Amino acid sequence: MKKKICILGSTGSIGKSTLEIISKNRNDFDVILLNGNSNFRLLISQAKKFKPKYIYSSNFYLTEKIKYFCIKNKIIIINDLNLLKKIKFDITIAAISGIAGLLPTLNIIKFSKKILIANKESIICGWKFIYKELKKNNCSFVPIDSEHFSIFNLIENKNMNSIKNIYLTASGGPFFGKNINLKKVTPLQAIKHPNWKMGKKISIDSANLMNKILEVIEASLIFNLPISKFKIIIHPQSLIHAVVEFKNGLSSMLYHHNNMKIPIANSLYSNFYINKASSNNLSFKKNLSFHDADIKKIPSIKILKLTKILNDKGFILINSLNEILVEKFMENKILFTDIVHKLLSILDSKVVKNHLKNHQIRHIKDVFKTYNFSRSLVN
Ligand code: NAD
Ligand code: MG
Repeated sequence: MKKKICILGSTGSIGKSTLEIISKNRNDFDVILLNGNSNFRLLISQAKKFKPKYIYSSNFYLTEKIKYFCIKNKIIIINDLNLLKKIKFDITIAAISGIAGLLPTLNIIKFSKKILIANKESIICGWKFIYKELKKNNCSFVPIDSEHFSIFNLIENKNMNSIKNIYLTASGGPFFGKNINLKKVTPLQAIKHPNWKMGKKISIDSANLMNKILEVIEASLIFNLPISKFKIIIHPQSLIHAVVEFKNGLSSMLYHHNNMKIPIANSLYSNFYINKASSNNLSFKKNLSFHDADIKKIPSIKILKLTKILNDKGFILINSLNEILVEKFMENKILFTDIVHKLLSILDSKVVKNHLKNHQIRHIKDVFKTYNFSRSLVN
């Protein structure tokens, strides 16, 4: 039987990679729901090809643009996932970018048997709510951010107490080892990632290594291990994604070509083989190098030393402030280097310390209150 598929963020980089795998294997999958936020032309062309039953979008402007196409093609447009009825997706892919993905991810779990989550910001801001919903609805979960996908596989059937350290690799981004004035970096330069083709926000995060800081937080939540167990190492080839060092003296690492289709396809299938996803030559490359991540050259690493901030409220603040500062950089309102400098100085401010003392994250609404508070701190 074909697997029923739902894709949140189908017009983004992860969404498109997923649809490329599906389009090579039409007999295995039936795309039931697509979702996008602004690129209505791409969403329409995806809908023409995959003929979903539903398109979900909370963006009024996009909905207006696709309304007549959907009526003509008998596609139901919904602006709230809770309007879905009597449906269970075999696999959902959560690939909206940013905290905007949190509510859709939470809402889709009850309609899904299995969810592949790429959207790290939703995990960082709302893992305890996501986890509760996964358990309540008996929905299985696979992280598809490549580092987390690797750890997930490396620790399968292992005792968590046997883990000494976990290393997350970072490519170093487009500026690693280059003698350039980072203050003069433009958004266009910052989004040119050397190894991966990704959305704009994650590409900027990779350029100043904020992506790795977010990934350490994401990993500590998913695997329920303290932040101090995680180390960042620079690996410019992006072929090893994580290394798990065990207390028995053995270390395991996972190698795969730097193409997100590999973790996605291996999560869509239980028995996957490579020509189902790509005809590229993905053979084993031998020249691998690893370097220490130097805190003097990479200021974002300082965030992982702010132990008083490293709790659920602090994680939401770190993520929200970063999202807002990235937006400002993209609008040319602040310098590239300001993203981390401002983030560090705001996190160190009295107002943040007071907020952390006086507010609890009990309800999902508290996450968005913290997000709004973060917005008020950035000028
Ligand atoms: P992208 O910018 O290419 O795509 C984002 C998708 O989210 C688009 O479909 C867009 O329409 C949708 N979206 C954006 N804002 C929205 C909003 N307000 N409401 C609803 N939908 C909205 O991003 P991406 O590179 O595909 O990344 C998606 C997520 O996956 C991110 O959280 C990222 O960190 C994570 N991730 C991406 C990669 C990668 O290789 N691209 C790798 C690992 C993890
Ligand atoms: Mg990653």
